[in-house]
Amino acid sequence: MVQHAFAFLSQQRFLGAPPCAGEAPAARFGVAGVAWDGAVTNRPGARFGPNAIRQASQMLCDATHPLFDLSPTTEICDHGDLHLPNTSLETMRTALQAQAQPLMQHQHIVWLGGDHSITLSLLRALRAVHGQPLAVLHFDAHCDTWSDHFGEPSGHGTWVYEAVQEGLVTPQGFVQVGIRSAAQREARDYVDTLGGRVITARELRGLESPSQLAPITAEIRARLDASNAPVYVTLDIDCLDPAFAPGTGTPEPGGLSSAQVLSLLEELCAMQLPFVGMDCVEVSPPYDHAELTAHIAAVCVWTYLCARLAAQPSPWL
Ligand code: MN
Ligand code: MN
Repeated sequence: MVQHAFAFLSQQRFLGAPPCAGEAPAARFGVAGVAWDGAVTNRPGARFGPNAIRQASQMLCDATHPLFDLSPTTEICDHGDLHLPNTSLETMRTALQAQAQPLMQHQHIVWLGGDHSITLSLLRALRAVHGQPLAVLHFDAHCDTWSDHFGEPSGHGTWVYEAVQEGLVTPQGFVQVGIRSAAQREARDYVDTLGGRVITARELRGLESPSQLAPITAEIRARLDASNAPVYVTLDIDCLDPAFAPGTGTPEPGGLSSAQVLSLLEELCAMQLPFVGMDCVEVSPPYDHAELTAHIAAVCVWTYLCARLAAQPSPWL
């Protein structure tokens, strides 16, 4: 059978942005969807995430951000969803890297997932484009450091382990935020053991405003700065408490509030640090209620874009 992509790719564009034209679009930022959920542990549905996030973004009207007082609408274009093979994880990952890498050479891209397995391909591509390992700001309920996926080499919870093993990331510049799921100590401590930092959801309890979070943001900034590496943000929507983001495959109660995540994104992503891209993954519309999850996902992506526009452009895009 000929290569077959999923049949339900997004029809809308993020914030109503124009489609990206040509190999080197003029817009500084690109948005692209990765409608894949073939590596989830329990409940599928994240393949519908890109479409739902784009749909929710239409509610942001002129998209002028109340903190940064700017709108990203004239600075972005939308590549739509990539046409990926609906086959094995390994084949999809290879195809994703091959399609993502040329886009990253011309633009700062925000990726709409999809399950978290896609991040490994994106890190492989960024590692190749930038010629050095990445620092990573990783929001998640799960550590994603498992060395196997129930006996298989890869799933949506192995990409951190795989990225470390492949030298795609600098462990000292790896920061995890919101971790709280059940996991053996070896997996939970993996990033800490390598010299990175794991900020658990418990450590963040009661800290919500920018001033309350200031010691945390200062520590993260110092770590990212010291890594002297391009910085990638990966936001697994299950970092949020299911009360704020029920539409995800593996919800974990006791998580972050929308205000906590937005405070962290606003404070960190507007800093003069060399951010080179972001993904927002694990939005699973079949489990959503009142489109809550799609809306906070759209707001997180919008906030990231506005924060980067408020900061001075870095030499890494
Ligand atoms: Mn994850
Ligand atoms: Mn997760």
